[in-house]
Amino acid sequence: MPFQTVKGTYDILPDQMMKVNMLKDLFRHFLNLYGYDEIKTPVFEYTGVFQKENDTSDMVTKEMYTFSVNGKDSLTLRPEGTAGVIRSFVENKMYGNSELPVKLGYLEEMFRHERPQKGRQRQFTQLGIECIGDKNPLIDAEVIALGYFYIRTLGLQGIKVLINTLGDSESRLRYKEKLIEHFTPYKDELCQDCQNRLEKNPLRILDCKIDHSSKAVETAPKMELTEGAAEYFEDVKHYLDILGIPYEVDDRLVRGLDYYTDTVFEVVSTNEASGSQATIFGGGRYDNLVQEMGGPSMSGIGFAIGVERLLILCEAEEIFNVKKTIDCYVINLNEDPDYAMLIAEELRANSFSTEMDYYRRSLKAQFRSSERKNARFVLIIGEDEVNSATVTLKDTLTKAQESVKREELCERLAQLMEEYYE
Ligand SMILES: [Zn+2]
Repeated sequence: MPFQTVKGTYDILPDQMMKVNMLKDLFRHFLNLYGYDEIKTPVFEYTGVFQKENDTSDMVTKEMYTFSVNGKDSLTLRPEGTAGVIRSFVENKMYGNSELPVKLGYLEEMFRHERPQKGRQRQFTQLGIECIGDKNPLIDAEVIALGYFYIRTLGLQGIKVLINTLGDSESRLRYKEKLIEHFTPYKDELCQDCQNRLEKNPLRILDCKIDHSSKAVETAPKMELTEGAAEYFEDVKHYLDILGIPYEVDDRLVRGLDYYTDTVFEVVSTNEASGSQATIFGGGRYDNLVQEMGGPSMSGIGFAIGVERLLILCEAEEIFNVKKTIDCYVINLNEDPDYAMLIAEELRANSFSTEMDYYRRSLKAQFRSSERKNARFVLIIGEDEVNSATVTLKDTLTKAQESVKREELCERLAQLMEEYYE
């Protein structure tokens, strides 16, 4: 039996890779537009980077690929991007930058041992940003704007933002106590995970998929914000209004990770093609993560977009229009391929993507190849062309054919390309 990919992993074949690269290219463009620099952290880190004491998230408690080699330190394949970026921010003392906040973006592979399903693999790619070192509602709105307008620019329809606040530490602490009090009488009715979460992080019970519509959750009290936290949230919403970003406040929105504070958000699609209401991506602010990683007390905010999920939505809405094309195909009709090979190489040296025939096939067979490769220009090289140092150039769009001197070829191609797009 030949080998197969490991369960939960998959090959990105060339057709799909073009689409993935399109998503990545546009994301890099958006990083640039908003002043973010790209960063790459290692695929594995010390387990403690991801796992904090009393962590209750599924990701940390159940889904991490943790291993050690020769009985040495415990290492973990990165399950998400934020922790590694913050580790790097602290280790490289970026908090000392004269310009804060530090804005970092990443396009990286992540690993989680979950049950594989459509759009959810064990190795997957995330496009994310972290804006670290300052706390300001303008920044929250800008981070949401980057993600929202990225999705809009891709062409997805029916996009809106769900937003909530988890409050500052004072309002959250008070709320935690109230929730523990509220949920304790229902403890036996909650799922096993929520029973474990009850004391550590009862907020997470609010967005539990199992207990979502239980009486316990439906009757749960709402958070009472401190004046400061309420004002902060009002400002974030105000800036979203200014930017014309449609949003809805969803006070059940908690997000799956323990470290979020204040603003949390999700970008969702309400388009029918994507199902009733599909989450495209989410993120939030974290006040304590930098300090927990050994840095100063500094706040940050970020989000991460799952590429696999985004790809499914983009395909459902048929927004891809990618066809691989090349500039030139060199047809060689001579026994000796030297001249054709040189022409092909000259074209590439001048940035024209070029392929040539390797097999001295018939003219018809070579023309068919040029069509399959979507070549804009076909260059035909027979005995006459070699002797006169020319090529016969055919423009597949205008169907015009002409003889061009070798030394004028690149200039002529550039001219034809320009003329056509005028
Ligand atoms: Zn639950």
